[in-house]
Amino acid sequence: MRQKVCYINDIMDICERLEKCPFYQDKMIIETGLGTILKKKYCESNKNECARYMVLQTIGAEYVDNTLFPHMKDRAYELIQMNKKN
Ligand code: SF4
Repeated sequence: MRQKVCYINDIMDICERLEKCPFYQDKMIIETGLGTILKKKYCESNKNECARYMVLQTIGAEYVDNTLFPHMKDRAYELIQMNKKN
């Protein structure tokens, strides 16, 4: 019987953009405690729920500015809706 192997990266969807992302690199203005919470919640465990990542993946990096934070999914949906190419 084969054993099921579960790797930590399969569970935790860590973002591949940690080194380049202005949010993760503390280049965006945010209260430190909140920034730490958002990094844990999105960057280090669930990138696909991050507003910045969603916009980046869907319509491109040029639409991701430094006022868009990971928890701003409503704004991400708006940006995607307004700029989606058919
Ligand atoms: S803010 Fe979003 S895009 Fe930036 S590192 Fe975190 S998960 Fe990735």
